[in-house]
Amino acid sequence: MRILMVEDEKTLAATVRRGLNNEGFVVDVAHDGVGGLWAATDNSYDVILLDLMLPLKNGYDVLKELRQRKIWTPVLMLTAKDGEYDQTDAFDLGADDYLTKPFSFLVLVARIRALIRRGAPERPVVLTLGTLTLDPVNRSVRRGDTGISLTAREYGLLQYLMRRHDQIVSKAEILSNVWDPAFDGGDNVVEVYVGYLRRKIDLPFDLHTLTTVRGMGYLLSADRIPAAAAGGHPEG
Ligand code: CA
Repeated sequence: MRILMVEDEKTLAATVRRGLNNEGFVVDVAHDGVGGLWAATDNSYDVILLDLMLPLKNGYDVLKELRQRKIWTPVLMLTAKDGEYDQTDAFDLGADDYLTKPFSFLVLVARIRALIRRGAPERPVVLTLGTLTLDPVNRSVRRGDTGISLTAREYGLLQYLMRRHDQIVSKAEILSNVWDPAFDGGDNVVEVYVGYLRRKIDLPFDLHTLTTVRGMGYLLSADRIPAAAAGGHPEG
């Protein structure tokens, strides 16, 4: 079993490497993000241990670029202290596990073995609806060839609606799935964000895919004629 450890604290890296060698693992070490990305791209590993705060390129960017390159090696993220970054961010970017420093060596080995046992997990797939695509790996949204920039909340709302496409979803369902459970601002906020989303995914393209079903909720459906095929259609 071969492990890549990307860690700039050289003493820690050396200690962990020695310990893992004793457990029968072959360990390569990179001391910065660029070297780590290079090693992970050029070689095949069973698990990558990836520190978050790294010189040249941080762990988040390394992970994001790995996944963009379709390298699905399980990644265990290491962070300096709890709450330094949001754990959910690491999982969104495709990290498979998460360990906070200082960690116990026995726990590290147990987590590595669990990742190896689990194998390559199911990866997020690009959601497509008509000409609209949403890529969860790099959180990008496109309508045809046009990139659409969304806020985190708009992105969450669109992702939910795309998963439930061609079904009427109520404000209450949207609120409980897209907003924090502790949010108590009332469901008008859903209407506001549906409006924001329409201005980005529909209006610029002269489309009406996100519709209000009065008294029931919202419906997202596919645009039937791709924008490129609607040649001769007058603008605006
Ligand atoms: Ca570090």
